[in-house]
Amino acid sequence: MSRIPVIEMFGPTIQGEGAVIGVKTMFVRTYGCDYRCGWCDSAFTWDGSAKDKVTMLTPQEILSGLLELAGENFNCVTISGGNPALIGEAMGEFISLLHERGIQAAIETQGSRWQDWFHEVDVLTISPKPPSSGMQTDWDKLDEIMNRVADNGKAAHSLKVVVFNQEDYEYARKVHFRHPEVPLFLQPGNDNVTEEGDISGRLLGRLEWLFGLVIADPQMNRARVLPQLHALIWHNKRGK
Ligand code: SF4
Repeated sequence: MSRIPVIEMFGPTIQGEGAVIGVKTMFVRTYGCDYRCGWCDSAFTWDGSAKDKVTMLTPQEILSGLLELAGENFNCVTISGGNPALIGEAMGEFISLLHERGIQAAIETQGSRWQDWFHEVDVLTISPKPPSSGMQTDWDKLDEIMNRVADNGKAAHSLKVVVFNQEDYEYARKVHFRHPEVPLFLQPGNDNVTEEGDISGRLLGRLEWLFGLVIADPQMNRARVLPQLHALIWHNKRGK
């Protein structure tokens, strides 16, 4: 039986980002990422600092762990990372197990790898990383993934771009122009993910800045601008 490297499971909590913002959900974080974003807020999923927390679990063991944590108090599981798209068929098996119990699977990935199980995901968020991350987007790969989910998938799919600066905003526009039919969510970046205490004032200031860019831009009439809702409430705390 194939296994999935899991570094963190928690919930129920409220999804704070993107298309499923506000939804009660459990979180499963997989270990490993093919990117190294400079501002990654979950670097512990790939930098080795929490490697001792990783467990190799079967899909059934993950489901059992979630039920142990929350009983029947959820019907959505968000699978994040790291990059969950590094996981092959075991993730497809996990999604099937969720569906057997009437539980939705929401996945977030940066759009650097395709997996056939994308077709089975209920809510698929593709979040390509802008220039401030230090990463290079493989546009052909991103286009291929977007076209494949549009052609065959049942997933409600969307794009999400985190914006730290003007250059990132131009990148988000480019993403939108390439896939204008796909809902686009913009989110201001949190440029200090280790700051302690109440960071909501700083984050709301960045949200207002991003509102201003979109309000002034006739080419972004259909983009939606959202905060990181959980960060406004729980700040930089992990496991929320
Ligand atoms: S893709 Fe996500 S998990 Fe990977 S380094 Fe970037 S922000 Fe972190």
